[in-house]
Amino acid sequence: MQVHNVDLTISAVSPSQYPTGGYPEIAFAGRSNVGKSSLINALINRKSFARTSSQPGKTQTLNFYDIESMLYFVDVPGYGYAKVSQKERDKWGAMIETYLSSRDQLRGVVSLVDARHAPTKLDQQMVNLLHYYDLPVLVVGTKVDKVKKSKRNQSYSLIKKTLQLGENDDLVLFSALDKTGKDKVWNWIEHMGQ
Ligand code: GDP
Repeated sequence: MQVHNVDLTISAVSPSQYPTGGYPEIAFAGRSNVGKSSLINALINRKSFARTSSQPGKTQTLNFYDIESMLYFVDVPGYGYAKVSQKERDKWGAMIETYLSSRDQLRGVVSLVDARHAPTKLDQQMVNLLHYYDLPVLVVGTKVDKVKKSKRNQSYSLIKKTLQLGENDDLVLFSALDKTGKDKVWNWIEHMGQ
C-alpha cells in the first residue's frame, strides 16, 4: 500500500475512547526500544510520525493511527522498560488484555522481537497471550541489518523455535535502515486487513 494520509485519531486508555467507525485494526507490540516506531514509520513512509512512548512518567496509551481512512494501526506501548513500577506494569497489562480480548475490529497483531538475540521471556509471554486469544500473529525480527547475511537463517530459526511459532504464525526479518522485509510486512497487513 502506498500511504499518503495518516492521522493520529486518538490516544486511548479505555474502551470508551476507542475510535468508532469500524475500520479493521492491526496492532503493534514489542518491548521498549525494539524498533516499533521505526517499523511503523517505515510502513507509512514517514521519518518520525510514530514516536516512542516508553519513557517512565509518560501516560501509557493505545495510539490509533488512521491509515488512508481504510484501517487503523494500533501502537501498543512498549513493555519491559526496567524503570517502570509494578503498578504501571499492572495497568499496562490490564489495558492490553482488555483491548486484545474485546476488540472485534482487531484483525491481527505484529509482535516485534530483536532479530539479533533470542526472544526474551516477555516476548514469549506476549506471543502466548496472542495465541491464547486466537489472534493472527506476524512476528517481525527487527534490526536485521545488524545480523550478517550468513546468520539470518539461524536468527529466523531461533525466533521461530523460541516463540514456538506454528503453521498459523508468520515471521519476517525486517530492517528500518534498508527496508528489508517491508513489502512482506505490508502484504501480511493487507491480507489480514481485508
Ligand atoms: P521503539 O521504542 O520500539 O519505538 O523503538 P524505536 O523505533 O524508537 O528504535 C529504538 C532504537 O533502535 C533507535 O535508536 C533506532 O534508531 C534503532 N533502530 C530501530 N530500527 C532499527 C533497524 O532496523 N536497524 C537498526 N540498525 N537500528 C534500528
